[in-house]
Amino acid sequence: MAFELPNLPYEQNALEPYISANTLSFHHGKHHAGYVNNLNNLVKDTDLADKSLEEIVKATAGDASKAGIFNNAAQVWNHTFYWHSMKPNGGGAPSGALAAKIDADFGSFDAFKEQFKAAGTSQFGSGWAWLVLENGTLKVTKTLNAENPLTSGQIPLLTMDVWEHAYYLDYQNRRPDYAQTFLNSLVNWEFAEANYAKAIA
Ligand code: ZN
Repeated sequence: MAFELPNLPYEQNALEPYISANTLSFHHGKHHAGYVNNLNNLVKDTDLADKSLEEIVKATAGDASKAGIFNNAAQVWNHTFYWHSMKPNGGGAPSGALAAKIDADFGSFDAFKEQFKAAGTSQFGSGWAWLVLENGTLKVTKTLNAENPLTSGQIPLLTMDVWEHAYYLDYQNRRPDYAQTFLNSLVNWEFAEANYAKAIA
């Protein structure tokens, strides 16, 4: 069965003024949709066609002959995860078990925010910043292009897209401003808390 573009979990204008409807229209309606179409074309009539998205990402990671499939499958996964990593009236701080774990593993919430912002800002070229759980410890990491922490045994809890297509219409070259705004006004901590609860269950 072919993969389908999932709907955004909010209206296209719901993240304004931080991310414009224009950006989401292109980012979801063209970029994310393009990865879905490419993936469907690439796996059609192959033994990957009936696999789940996660299975395809894991099965093709590191295989140069399947780089096209991996890139599109991982970008489909990453973008769906990214939409849920934001919400209208987001920002603020996590609560409960995740808040305590962030304090324990990063020293403080402010220290986490600095690391996350630095990861997004310092990723050269296109990629992603992540909060992940690895062997019971929270870590901030960054990946290049389509790469996804699932393929290195990490459990993603939150992500920020730092491809230029994510922010250029609204922030032009000011990626640090976009990263700061993501943390201050967009991040969906309930999503990260739910992912953390699942990861430690
Ligand atoms: Zn993107």
